[in-house]
Amino acid sequence: SGKKHESKILGHELAAKFYHHLLTTTEQGKAAYDYLLDRGFTQDMISAFQIGYAPDNPAALKALLEKRGFQESEMEEAGLLLRKESSWEYMDRFRNRVMFPIMNNQGRVIAFGGRALQEGQPKYLNSPETPIFHKNETLYALHKARPAIRKENKAILFEGYADVISAWNAGVNNGVATLGTALSARQAKIIRRNAEQAIICYDGDKAGQEAALRSAELLEQEGCQVQVALLPEGSDPDDFIKIHGKDKFVNEIIKAPFTLMSFKMQKLKKEKNLQHEGDRLQYIEEIVGEISKISKAVERDHYLRQVADEFDLSLEALKQEQHRLFRANK
Ligand code: ATP
Ligand code: MN
Ligand code: MN
Ligand code: MN
Repeated sequence: SGKKHESKILGHELAAKFYHHLLTTTEQGKAAYDYLLDRGFTQDMISAFQIGYAPDNPAALKALLEKRGFQESEMEEAGLLLRKESSWEYMDRFRNRVMFPIMNNQGRVIAFGGRALQEGQPKYLNSPETPIFHKNETLYALHKARPAIRKENKAILFEGYADVISAWNAGVNNGVATLGTALSARQAKIIRRNAEQAIICYDGDKAGQEAALRSAELLEQEGCQVQVALLPEGSDPDDFIKIHGKDKFVNEIIKAPFTLMSFKMQKLKKEKNLQHEGDRLQYIEEIVGEISKISKAVERDHYLRQVADEFDLSLEALKQEQHRLFRANK
């Protein structure tokens, strides 16, 4: 960082202002603005997150950057411009997309996530890795969420930009998201540096729940106390808020998270048919295996009792099973 990258950042800040201006005050941006309003974004959300619109014109940003004296080659390295090999001409990377600026720890714009307005293209186009943007050490909205994360000693991790923004609008101000990639160890460390607790609130689909498990385990490895907030099948936080409202989201999803073990139990149950004896025995064995990995004896005992009660087994039998698994794993 430092002075060396200053003009790449200034280029991004100019682009963010330009895109935001186009979205909010021009005829060119009207379709994108309507799209956002239609999705339930408010002017407040659009301003707070400096959302913008990259026009359907291959040289709109390019012309502005040139006029302000930025070098095209440097703006290409910054990820804002592309060069077509056929013509050597520089052109804008982002065209006809809703633009979500991505900030660094100082709140400066270092990248964009761009959402297509129509089907048929990749839904999101994110900035590439550049000297100022490293995906695996950046979290969307961290700069904005940090005061709330610190105050509550808790971060909420979402999958998407829209989830963070809708949650913010619902009063959940400690939300961040990864950038279209799986949570990295670096990102988990960054979360842990800011808070002891983390709640994972991923999409209520199979991919989201698989990813939630991986992120949860990574965060736990980094020393976070992790809980998982579960959404109904097929909806993500942004959808949920739109359908059911802010209060229900806060009270029934964010304020009612599950422990990691209880999330694992629910997930494993969904994959089995517990009416069948074979599945039931397999479930018990797998979950006892998971319980045996818990380091705190009191917690282990708590979950073993829960399983014993649920399946009408003796705690003694489960403990024997646990010892058998423990020896087998050594
Ligand atoms: P929306 O609500 O705008 O439809 P979403 O955030 O719900 O978007 P998901 O499909 O759930 O979209 O994806 C979650 C996140 O993954 C996105 O916010 C984005 O960061 C990333 N992502 C999704 N599709 C792509 C893609 N084609 N390329 C790169 N990143 C993507
Ligand atoms: Mn998803
Ligand atoms: Mn989603
Ligand atoms: Mn969504």
